[in-house]
Amino acid sequence: MNNLFLNTEILPYCKGCGHDLIAKNTTKALGKLNYEPLDIIVVTDIGCHGIIDKALNTHTVHGLHGRSAALASGISFGTDNPDKKIIVFIGDGGATIGLQHIMEASRLNVNMTLVVHNNYLYGMTGGQTSGLTPVGFHTTTSHEGNQFSGYDICALARTAGAPYVSRITGIGDISDQLAVAFSNKGFSLVEILEICPSYGVKLNPKRKLQEIAASSGKPLGEWTQHREPFEKHQGKKTDDLLGEVREIKKVFQSYLKTTVSLVISGSAGEGVQLAAGLISKACVSSGLCVTQKGSYPVTVGVGFSTSEINISTQPIDFHGINVPDMAIITSEDGLAHNRKRIESMTNGKLMIDSSLEVPKTGADVIQHDFRTVGARNAAIFAVFFFALKTGIISSEAILKVIEEEGKTDKLPLPKIKEALAKVK
Ligand code: SF4
Repeated sequence: MNNLFLNTEILPYCKGCGHDLIAKNTTKALGKLNYEPLDIIVVTDIGCHGIIDKALNTHTVHGLHGRSAALASGISFGTDNPDKKIIVFIGDGGATIGLQHIMEASRLNVNMTLVVHNNYLYGMTGGQTSGLTPVGFHTTTSHEGNQFSGYDICALARTAGAPYVSRITGIGDISDQLAVAFSNKGFSLVEILEICPSYGVKLNPKRKLQEIAASSGKPLGEWTQHREPFEKHQGKKTDDLLGEVREIKKVFQSYLKTTVSLVISGSAGEGVQLAAGLISKACVSSGLCVTQKGSYPVTVGVGFSTSEINISTQPIDFHGINVPDMAIITSEDGLAHNRKRIESMTNGKLMIDSSLEVPKTGADVIQHDFRTVGARNAAIFAVFFFALKTGIISSEAILKVIEEEGKTDKLPLPKIKEALAKVK
């Protein structure tokens, strides 16, 4: 195969799907413009169009339904290289779910080309009506033909300020039209009309794409207006988001030879995330790899607060935990949030506040009064307890993190030390 941008000629669509033509013409247009695969960032989201990612040799980013324009805007603002070409693939369903993102990208003139795959319905989920379905078109949720006229996405983008907009039918070679859109500096939108063979053709027999396009009242064509692209937010404080992250050097040793997954959980407002951060940073300063993922209700300050920490001697590629090897539970909220996975533990360690009922578990249970240092510091105390009971990190490593982060005077360290001295 001689297409630089695709790693297969057989794309993952139903036979006759217009998405195949769009993908192949996109790569043909990029070839005509002399792009290399890694000059291209393709952003997709949910919908049949989005399963193209794995067939592409370009950079690819896949997001939530309707969010690809928003994701691409972030990528566009974040990239240092304006020569990278950002192409967004979105379906007609996604385009209406994420309509405001498209309006904003048009209004701000963010550097990207958005290719709307408009086959007039939600193909992936069973042929339902979308916001771009034209009046009279039959879908699985409009048996008698859609009652409403779909949005004119081109007119909306134009009105919002998009400097280049076109509407074309997905028939034949459309690579030249795509190349024109891709050459635009700033925001461009191409709406490509097609019919989904699996639903649109079956539900609208005898209708042809050109006739549907003509009767929709939305003209084919190309619209331009000159505007300078918007590349950076003026309010952006730094070009390097990681520049402010403190480098943690390896100073301590750890005996750990394998991977350990740890859940620490308690009540919101009781320092659980701070405690998890201390464990994680102390692990890094002990030469270990760590992932940390916090979770708590939207109403911050109420209910549970949980953090999942993976610790390993090797790089870790996944940050979640199903059933942990170890769990630290400091309050009723933390227990309620983790009861099921604690009950699923067949071995490992459960360190739990002695005021709590111990669930049925296969883990070794260590009960201790973490709340003796006050509810707000129970999780911090539990971090030192964890160090003492597991040896994965040392108290010195935790104290060093506290010192480097300027928290020595903010935490009741003498009280914690006193409580630790009583631990058997
Ligand atoms: S369901 Fe429709 S849109 Fe999806 S791949 Fe099949 S033909 Fe294409």
